[in-house]
Amino acid sequence: MLASIKYWENKAKNGHYAIPHFNVWNAEMLMGVMDAAEESKAPIIISFGTGFVGNTSFEDFSHMMVSMAKKASVPVITHWDHGRSMEIVVNAYEHGMNSVMRDASAYDLETNIKLTKEVVDYFHMRGVPVEAELGHVGNETVYEETLAHYKYTDPSQAAEFVERTGCDSLAVAIGNQHGVYTAEPQLNFHVVEKVNEAVTVPIVLHGASGISDADIKTAISLGITKINIHTELCQAAMIAVNKNTDVPFLAMERAVRDAVKERALEKIKLFGTDGKAE
Ligand SMILES: [Zn+2]
Repeated sequence: MLASIKYWENKAKNGHYAIPHFNVWNAEMLMGVMDAAEESKAPIIISFGTGFVGNTSFEDFSHMMVSMAKKASVPVITHWDHGRSMEIVVNAYEHGMNSVMRDASAYDLETNIKLTKEVVDYFHMRGVPVEAELGHVGNETVYEETLAHYKYTDPSQAAEFVERTGCDSLAVAIGNQHGVYTAEPQLNFHVVEKVNEAVTVPIVLHGASGISDADIKTAISLGITKINIHTELCQAAMIAVNKNTDVPFLAMERAVRDAVKERALEKIKLFGTDGKAE
């Protein structure tokens, strides 16, 4: 069934587990993560974003996302990831996303607050929660170079940011990065601890593909309650593609769906979300 991200993030926060956020932009990925959620009885977030529109028409694919979310026996949230403008998140909402992220983290603090608040004001009137980002999680590049000029979340700004924007959850930059890590991720857990002390809203970890299981568990123990996975689903899919080059396309697609499901299941169990839908 379609579910509220606010309800599940808060439940996860109190229960010391994390809700998995899976980026999905084709049928195999969507069906794979839904299979995993059903099998493990886990609440999940299925999410789309601007980076995928070159592959898939969101306005059409959204119907499949919403339809599968509604039909599921487990709670499913439909989410828009990294909304870079008001127009983009409004379009997402008009196509059935019941949760959005407004990402103005590339701007200075005051501009981030202003742009985030505009979206929060619009969406709260419509009962839709908004995730925001403080600090800046970089895009896929050479990790060591990213770390050299990394924009960590400043915990001393967290309370003011949440209060002035009214955001419902907060993505943090703690040494995490989108895409493939070219070196061992170095997470600053002190930032998570301090942010968690400063705010009551759930805290979100982006770029979690490639972060060790031990670090994920530490992050959850310190208050991370939503964890975003995309790259590892793609990697699982690619392994399946490469293993199935000699079979018919139909069979290869089923293998991809199964591989995505297995990787999603691993994450659901790691995050402690299995069985939580019951
Ligand atoms: Zn992200």
